[in-house]
Amino acid sequence: MRVAILSRNEKLYSTRRLVEAGRERGHTVDVIDTLHCYMDITTSQPTVRYRGEALPHYDAVIPRIGASITFYGAAVVRQFEMMGTFCLNESVAISRSRDKLRSLQLLSRKGIGLPRTGFASKPDDVKDLIKNVGGAPLVVKLLEGTQGIGVVLADTDKAAESIIEAFMGLRANILVQEFIGEAGGADIRCLVVGGKVVAAMKRQGAEGEFRSNLHRGGSARLVRLSKEERATAVNAAKAMGLNVCGVDILQSKRGPVVMEVNSSPGLEGIEQATDKDISGMIFKFIEENAAAGSTKTRGK
Ligand code: ADP
Ligand code: GLU
Repeated sequence: MRVAILSRNEKLYSTRRLVEAGRERGHTVDVIDTLHCYMDITTSQPTVRYRGEALPHYDAVIPRIGASITFYGAAVVRQFEMMGTFCLNESVAISRSRDKLRSLQLLSRKGIGLPRTGFASKPDDVKDLIKNVGGAPLVVKLLEGTQGIGVVLADTDKAAESIIEAFMGLRANILVQEFIGEAGGADIRCLVVGGKVVAAMKRQGAEGEFRSNLHRGGSARLVRLSKEERATAVNAAKAMGLNVCGVDILQSKRGPVVMEVNSSPGLEGIEQATDKDISGMIFKFIEENAAAGSTKTRGK
């Protein structure tokens, strides 16, 4: 097969590993810089142009769309869908997963465990917003944050109030969430491929840190999932419509709760923590599902 990886940087671990795994399995793999793709969207014969030429026909596309280019990246993926190319994750599902509120609303509709969460743009009554998610301790999150930046723990209602008001003053959209203290500064990243959890790791925050992000000094190790955790990850991926994703789960007293679903999960941490060839599994899924004309863009 001929496969394109949409990625801004071919030197990134995940991109390099996918190229390697695809070539090992006998495929032709090209890395295409998403932002350098341009398109004529009005013709009845949609194409994607790149560095002065129309791109060749690809049997499949692997989108690795970073959060900062979601809007343009989703348009490029959509153009490939219009050409009948199998896209590992569909454009609508990618856009959906990048919107934290939309994601939580969809997951909640499917009855998937979630931390109690409220959101607001201009709450007239900050005290009520705090009370509504059960009071302090609670977590205030910037909607646009990544890698744990913009996630603040408020120990008291008073602190929560000040933090919320400060963010509001900056005109930031925020999310106010029940603090799952019993998770002990750890979370579980489940890697889902084709409706199955193929690898999972537990990330533990640095000493005295409630955020488990590896970027914040956390460490990762292999973990065995309970049946309930596995089902939660699979259901979350399904609700989001993602073939490949990373589902982040916190272990709460009332069972697993989903924090986030990532449509371009990093492969380095999880391949190293679990010693699994996840890139190879992703290609296996593509081989089994990228039959010509099988792309269904539902546009929901
Ligand atoms: P980001 O998307 O910036 O990584 P997250 O929402 O994933 O932000 O939060 C970063 C980390 O903070 C998580 O990995 C988790 O360890 C911790 N955390 C986030 N929300 C909660 C919560 N409600 N209760 C307990 N810990 C949390
Ligand atoms: N950096 C990855 C991305 O392209 C996501 C990292 C993660 O899996 O949390 O979005």
